[in-house]
Amino acid sequence: MNRLLSVYAADFQAVVQPGLLYKDMNRVLARHGLFFAPDPGANASLGGMIANNAAGTRTPKYGATRDNVLALEVVLADGQVIRSGSRSVKQSAGYDLTHLFVGSEGTLGLITEATIRLAPLPAHFSAATVAFPTLEAAAQAVSEMIGAGLGPAALEILDAASVGAMNGQEEFELPTMPALFLEFHGATEETLAAELSMAQAICGEHGARAFEAGIGREARSRLWAARHQLGEILPRVYAGLRYVGADVAVPISAFPALAAEATAALEGLPEAHPYLFGHAGDGNLHAMIFVEGDDSQYEEVRAAFNDRVVAAALRLGGTCTGEHGVGIGKRRYMVAEHGAEAVKVMWAIKRALDPLDLLNPGKVLPEEEGEE
Ligand SMILES: Cc1cc2nc3c(=O)[nH]c(=O)nc-3n(C[C@H](O)[C@H](O)[C@H](O)COP(=O)(O)OP(=O)(O)OC[C@H]3O[C@@H](n4cnc5c(N)ncnc54)[C@H](O)[C@@H]3O)c2cc1C
Repeated sequence: MNRLLSVYAADFQAVVQPGLLYKDMNRVLARHGLFFAPDPGANASLGGMIANNAAGTRTPKYGATRDNVLALEVVLADGQVIRSGSRSVKQSAGYDLTHLFVGSEGTLGLITEATIRLAPLPAHFSAATVAFPTLEAAAQAVSEMIGAGLGPAALEILDAASVGAMNGQEEFELPTMPALFLEFHGATEETLAAELSMAQAICGEHGARAFEAGIGREARSRLWAARHQLGEILPRVYAGLRYVGADVAVPISAFPALAAEATAALEGLPEAHPYLFGHAGDGNLHAMIFVEGDDSQYEEVRAAFNDRVVAAALRLGGTCTGEHGVGIGKRRYMVAEHGAEAVKVMWAIKRALDPLDLLNPGKVLPEEEGEE
């Protein structure tokens, strides 16, 4: 089921089957001057992206997958086929079943068709890289840029180790310092120039050491290719080691506090190789921490880092997962994030739609009702 069924170019919409890969789809849509904006990096399927509410570098401007799904066809556990949503961009007719299935990680039904929103390919764009003395300074600049009303299409943060890992790829040579990668999309060159100059001024106030703007089309492609590949490069560098991952997200004003907590949590980790990076423009911080040693050392790092950073994200009004989803590993945080009563409602929905627990059993919800 990997077909692009229809393109409604005048409405900025397409109807797709779930096995279609989004990068392949975007190559076809480019002929219409359109693209599907959510970009998890790897060439994910539309079904996987919708089931996970995937997001990525372009979320600050275009939203996550959830914001770009209008309607679904879903096969329920008992074999019934239902349709939800419509092609209207607004609809207030009843319960929003479409967005119940988005992000449900295959636990409530099988998505067999989706109507998605598209965006016009930007007429003008400009990318920049900025080096900072500390990760916290970079995070402060992010919070201030968004607070000032700047609307970057992408705003990524990387610690010095992540920049160092990227420097080995794609003929890259950036200062091995904490960095922001920015991209602006605009209708005119003038609006782009104004946004870039404001971004530069804010970065300067936070001690930016190098602001490289005016990156050309080819260099920009290499920049984003290297950034997207980071999650695949690092496991190759540390082949054989397991890693603790993190995917916390907070409201943008709390992003500097989250970055500071994550940096502090790294101190004193036993025999580990940590990397911090993330989609800072939407308050999303990732970590990959490669652990030497056995299972007990892995658990020690997971508890010392992930539990602490998740607790901080929840305290700051955020979430244990911005885009990777819950799966099995993050079920333990569901009650802390939503409260036991809300988790009971989730169980009630799961039992109503899938009483025999056929669809992705054991995922998303804690094993026992109300279990932490
Ligand atoms: C190293 C790494 C980095 C990642 N980075 C990102 C990132 O930056 N942003 C991001 O959003 N995600 C990220 N992810 C998570 C993952 O890549 C995304 O969720 C991706 O969109 C999944 O697509 P897929 O085609 O690989 O789906 P799959 O792995 O095949 O499926 C993902 C989930 O969706 C369910 N599913 C798939 N198709 C359907 C369907 N038709 N109906 C119902 N359920 C379905 C599956 O059962 C499964 O639970 C990352 C994962 C890894 C391992």
